[in-house]
Amino acid sequence: MRTNLLTVNEFEAAARIIRVGGLVGIPTETVYGLGANGLNPLAVDRIFQAKGRPQDNPLILHIPESSWLERYCEDIPEAAWRLAKRFWPGPLTMILRRKPIVPDVVTAGLDTVGMRCPAHSMCRAIIQAAGVPVAAPSGNTSGKPSPTTAQHMLDDMEGKIDAVLDGGPCTVGVESTIIDLTCRPPRLLRPGGVPLEELQAVLGEVEVDPAVVRPLGDGEQPRAPGMKYRHYAPKAPVTVVRGDPMRSAQYILDHIADSYWEGVICFNEFAHWFEDHPVEQLGGSLDRFEHARRLFRALRAMDENGVKHIWAQCPDTAGMGLAVVNRLSKAAGFHIVDA
Ligand code: AMP
Ligand code: MG
Repeated sequence: MRTNLLTVNEFEAAARIIRVGGLVGIPTETVYGLGANGLNPLAVDRIFQAKGRPQDNPLILHIPESSWLERYCEDIPEAAWRLAKRFWPGPLTMILRRKPIVPDVVTAGLDTVGMRCPAHSMCRAIIQAAGVPVAAPSGNTSGKPSPTTAQHMLDDMEGKIDAVLDGGPCTVGVESTIIDLTCRPPRLLRPGGVPLEELQAVLGEVEVDPAVVRPLGDGEQPRAPGMKYRHYAPKAPVTVVRGDPMRSAQYILDHIADSYWEGVICFNEFAHWFEDHPVEQLGGSLDRFEHARRLFRALRAMDENGVKHIWAQCPDTAGMGLAVVNRLSKAAGFHIVDA
């Protein structure tokens, strides 16, 4: 199969492919998604094939406006409408009770479904034109860092999907925040583009799922099947170094081997400390939105350099930091040291 690269003017072509059961790489503000008609089980099944994604890892349904929620969800709590009003369109996914119209393959058989209304205007235009909810996970090969440009998506999916629509680089850079509204208190399943603090401001108490910040123990059941998989991982092993930026940079300097095959992901201020190594800059140490925007690109660039070991400075967990720490920790298989 040849994968066509479409421009934003060709959003109707993208919509047509989705309507007839094909697969399209779609730009969103978070990361590029691999979209299919969310009401067509055969089309959705092809997403799992293209990504090599385990069948028990459910997908998110993307809709162009919150009024579509009632088509696919029931028992929608008042909190969902409040969150939609405040954060949609935007990087927030809500877990709600599903209606029978949602195919089992989308939800991995769960009686709940993840719903999101993306902020990227081209993404919403495609969904509107398709006239169906678009099921889409991130557009990477399962387990790899998520794509934040059309080229990254092509790197993983060339020859496996019908098209990618190039909507420019993603402005958020990490996936949506996932909040489960089917339990009390609401539970944060994945930190992402909407910071936890902003959800707490609207919802009051929010429980943070343990899998967000630490690996699950042997006997522990993940709340959602997808949480048990290793994620976002580049080819080389990653060591995450936690602590004050000056100390974590010093720790890396003290421990890094004198070899070009050891790469560093660091804050801009420290890039010149590692001149003899491949370096990817995350942004200034306090610019948490920039860290999110650059993280996946940095991990992919390390793969391209062919490094054998990656050292990464780690931001703290305030605001967008929680999403970045979560992705970095999972990319490292929770191999984290304190400086
Ligand atoms: P991704 O493409 O990688 O963003 O995958 C979608 C994420 O949404 C996965 O981590 C899923 O586990 C999660 N998800 C989707 N539907 C549900 C659901 N009904 N309950 C819990 N998590 C879900
Ligand atoms: Mg993903």
